[in-house]
Amino acid sequence: MKKYDVVVIGAGPGGYVAAIRCAQLGLSTACVESWINEDGKPALGGTCLNVGCIPSKALLDSSHHYHHIKHDAAEHGINVSGTTIDVNKMISRKAKIVKILTQGISGLFRKNNVDWLKGHATLKSNSEIQINSRHEDHDEETAIQANHIIIATGSVPTAIPSASVDNKLVVDSTGALKFNEVPRRLGVIGAGVIGLELGSVWNRLGSEVVILEALPDFLSAVDKQIAAEAEKTLRNQGLDIRLGAKVTGTGSNNREVSVSYEDESGKQQLTVDKLIVAVGRKPNTEGLGAEQCGLELDERGFIVVDEHCQTNLENVYAVGDVVRGPMLAHKASEEGVAIAERIAGKPGHMNYETIPWVIYTWPEIAWVGQSEEQLKQAGIDYRVGSFPFMATGRARAMGETNGLVKILADKKTDRVLGIHIFGPNASELIAEAVVTMEFDGSSEDLARTIHAHPTLSEAMHEAALGVDNRTIHI
Ligand code: FAD
Ligand code: NAD
Repeated sequence: MKKYDVVVIGAGPGGYVAAIRCAQLGLSTACVESWINEDGKPALGGTCLNVGCIPSKALLDSSHHYHHIKHDAAEHGINVSGTTIDVNKMISRKAKIVKILTQGISGLFRKNNVDWLKGHATLKSNSEIQINSRHEDHDEETAIQANHIIIATGSVPTAIPSASVDNKLVVDSTGALKFNEVPRRLGVIGAGVIGLELGSVWNRLGSEVVILEALPDFLSAVDKQIAAEAEKTLRNQGLDIRLGAKVTGTGSNNREVSVSYEDESGKQQLTVDKLIVAVGRKPNTEGLGAEQCGLELDERGFIVVDEHCQTNLENVYAVGDVVRGPMLAHKASEEGVAIAERIAGKPGHMNYETIPWVIYTWPEIAWVGQSEEQLKQAGIDYRVGSFPFMATGRARAMGETNGLVKILADKKTDRVLGIHIFGPNASELIAEAVVTMEFDGSSEDLARTIHAHPTLSEAMHEAALGVDNRTIHI
């Protein structure tokens, strides 16, 4: 039986990054992956590269260009007529990007001597894994041994009984990435990250989008002021967001879907051409052999780990969406790196306080650290500085004046406790906030840092000055 120092199960951003880092550190490493892509071929990259972060951002970018050309170009004195969309070309562009990136990982595996084992892994013990592979003409079962096992099996969409996904008219996030035409009426269940991002894609391309959200508050985990700004803007863009809407049932014929829901005014009905169900994701431990091996799962199905991603089984670790914490690609990857380094005897480190979040609507929503509401709840005294993009020269020049930067700093020490952005390129601007918090920086540090002019980052600078009531441009 072949034996490795480390076997990683799953090649999403948690698993493939962990495998590469293990191999870089001189450990003999294999990564088992069961993903079969749209061409029927084994593929690396997991949810993120195949049906998540990357394809969704490809469509967000394409739809942003379309919308911009159609609605904003004239303001710049650019007259464009006859703008049309070729949805199939947009989708094949997305597929091409996915292909390039997923193949890139197999190149990285080769370069780093990571063995890619194609098939489904089942834990037999804390040192033995069974792999079931499908070949054209036969199935195969093999077993391998490992001194250390890293589980990175990710997550899958949560289903709700009131809207079962058929991936024809009622789709999950994967189905919503490959419509072959723009639905005239699109329903979305869940005004979370996926609902807002994919709702935005199809709204920009011309769908009438209705989003049904069970909770009474919009983006309840986001700083209230930022969420309110975002809600106003997204509604203005045409997203019909209905809060406190509890879906009670759906029915479809071959052409349209009817959705029954209840809100504070009573029973409601909605008819759409396509319905996206985006109500969250759940950890994926299907067929992993957790029960047989005594691997501990919590009541929601997440693998139980300590702060170092150690499970209850010796030498077995778990990272990414399958364990507690935010379901984000960069969180999964950093956990993968940290655990690889610990296995190699180094002090692997993961700072859960400084994980950035980005929601890729336009403008984008990004934040790191605590919200104003969380600080209030924790009884922490803080000062706030904020600055609207409208008052920066660059945002004016770009014609992107919507939004603001908001900085929360400890009242006594001035240490930055949270930075929240709603604005153009917030996904890039948040990096400065993360670095500041990673270095335990203060608002004064940011205020004394020279920011290039004219840039959007000047809003960050001015918001930092604002913590001490000394903004210049407002
Ligand atoms: P996954 O990426 O889910 O990978 C797990 C892998 O394990 C899969 O390839 C699976 O086939 C494999 N596997 C499972 N069980 C077995 C087994 N028993 N044997 C062998 N292989 C197995 N996050 C962001 O940070 N930014 C974004 O912009 C973003 N956008 C998203 C958009 C969408 C539409 C979706 C659905 C998700 C998005 N996410 C985003 C979330 C992100 O995709 C996940 O957080 C990330 O993929 C988690 O990485 P992971 O390695 O833990 O798991
Ligand atoms: P989510 O948790 O972000 O949002 C789900 C929403 O659905 C919530 O607002 C919830 O209240 C609502 N909901 C739940 N049940 C409902 C019901 N029966 N009826 C109506 N509404 C209901 O989940 P998601 O949008 O599915 O995304 C899953 C995860 O994937 C995210 O939490 C995130 O971790 C990850 N993701 C990240 C990004 C990013 O980083 N930009 C993008 C997409 C996905």
